[in-house]
Amino acid sequence: MKKLTILGSTGSIGTSTLDIVAAHPDRFTVEALTAGANLDLFAKQIARFSPRLAVVLNEELAGRLKSMLPSGSGTEIMSGVDGLVAAATLTETDMVVAAIVGAAGLVPTAAAIKAGKDIALANKETLVTAGHLFMELIKRHNVRLYPVDSEHSAIFQSIEGHRNADISRIILTASGGPFLNTPVESLRSVTVGDALNHPNWSMGRKITIDSASMMNKGLEVIEASWLFDLPLDRIDVNIHPQSIIHSMVEYIDGCVIAQLGTPDMKAPIAYALSYPERIPTGVKPLDLTQLSGLTFAKPDLERFPCLSLAYRSMSDGESMPAVMNAANEIAVEAFLEGKIGFSHIPELIEMTMDSHQPVALGSISDVLEVDLWSRRCSREFCMKMGNKY
Ligand code: NAD
Ligand code: MG
Repeated sequence: MKKLTILGSTGSIGTSTLDIVAAHPDRFTVEALTAGANLDLFAKQIARFSPRLAVVLNEELAGRLKSMLPSGSGTEIMSGVDGLVAAATLTETDMVVAAIVGAAGLVPTAAAIKAGKDIALANKETLVTAGHLFMELIKRHNVRLYPVDSEHSAIFQSIEGHRNADISRIILTASGGPFLNTPVESLRSVTVGDALNHPNWSMGRKITIDSASMMNKGLEVIEASWLFDLPLDRIDVNIHPQSIIHSMVEYIDGCVIAQLGTPDMKAPIAYALSYPERIPTGVKPLDLTQLSGLTFAKPDLERFPCLSLAYRSMSDGESMPAVMNAANEIAVEAFLEGKIGFSHIPELIEMTMDSHQPVALGSISDVLEVDLWSRRCSREFCMKMGNKY
C-alpha cells in the first residue's frame, strides 16, 4: 500500500491522480489532500477519500470548509503554508504528488524531500526556479523523484536501462498549441478564450496559456536539463502537433527511443505512482492505423519568443530562471484578467529579465526573495503596459 499526499488535489493533475487512486484501492491510500479555493470539489474529495489532513489556502476558507464537512469527520483541517508543509511531511505519507501550480509549490516540495518522502513531480516551476537546490536536496535525503510531466515521463521511460553517457541528445515534443498556424501579426489580438482552447490536452489555466505561448516548453527544457543532467545544447524541441510521441532520446549509436501513447495525463501520473510496475489507467489504447500521420518541425522562435527567453534564462544562469518564472506567472495572470494582450506576455517577461542582474541562490529563501522581487517588478511594468493596452 503506497500512502499519498496530494498537493493541489482539486486541479487537473490532482483530480486525475485521484481517479487513479480510486481505481486502485488495493495499491494506494490518501493521507493528505490540499487545495486552493475550490471548496465544493474539495469537500467531495474529503468525503470520498477520508484523508487524515486537508489543507486550504487561508483560515477563512478553512472555517468554511469545516462547516461543509459532516460532524464527526475524522479529517483535520489546516491552512496556509504551515498546512501545506504539514501535509507534505506527514509521518504516514510515503509519496508526495506535487501538483500545485507555480512557485507556491516550492516550500512544501522542499519540506517533503527533507522529510524523506518520494516525490511525483508535476510542478515544473520548482525545478525551473531552484533546480540546483532541489537536485542536491534529493541526493542528500536519498529520495526518488518521478517525473509526471508527460515529456519527462517519456524520457524517463526511454532512458531506463541505458547509461547517461550514451545519450547524445533528448528531443522534447511540443504540440505547438492553438496558435501554431495563426499569423504572427494576429497574435496581438487573440482572446483569452482562443488561448485556452488547447487542441490536444485538457489542463489547468496557467499551463494552458503557457502552452499557447510555448513558455511551457521553455520551462520543460529547463526541467529536463535538471532532471536528466544534460546541458541545454543537448535538449532539442520538435513541434509535433499530434501529441502522440511524448518525447525521444537519441543515443550515440544513432538509435532513437521514443514513448508513444494517446495524450492523457493519467498514463504518466500512474507510472510515477506505481514505478517500476505498470497499472491499468483506462487511457484509450493507441491505434496508429487511425492516424493520418505524425509530423515534426522546428519551432518558430519569432512566433514563440517565450521559448528563446527560457533558453536565455538558463544561459544567464543563477537567479534568472526564477525571475523569468515569476514574471511569467504575473504576465499569465494579467492576460487571463484581460489587463494585457497575449503578445505582451513575452514583452513583460523580457523587460523584467533585462532589469535583473543574476545573483547566486544559496537557499530556498533566496529563491523566494528573488521571486518576490520579480513579481513586484513585472507588476509595475504590467501596470504601465496595461495603461497603454
Ligand atoms: P490547476 O490550476 O488545474 O491546479 C492547481 C492546484 O493547485 C489546484 O488544486 C489549486 O487549488 C492549487 N493551488 C493553486 N495555487 C495555489 C496556492 N498558491 N497555494 C496552494 N494551492 C494552490 O493546475 P494543473 O494543470 O493541475 O497543473 C499543476 C502543475 O502541474 C503545474 O505546475 C503544471 O505546470 C504541471 N503540469 C500540469 C499538466 C496538466 O496536464 N495539467 C501537465 C504537466 C505538468
Ligand atoms: Mg508537458
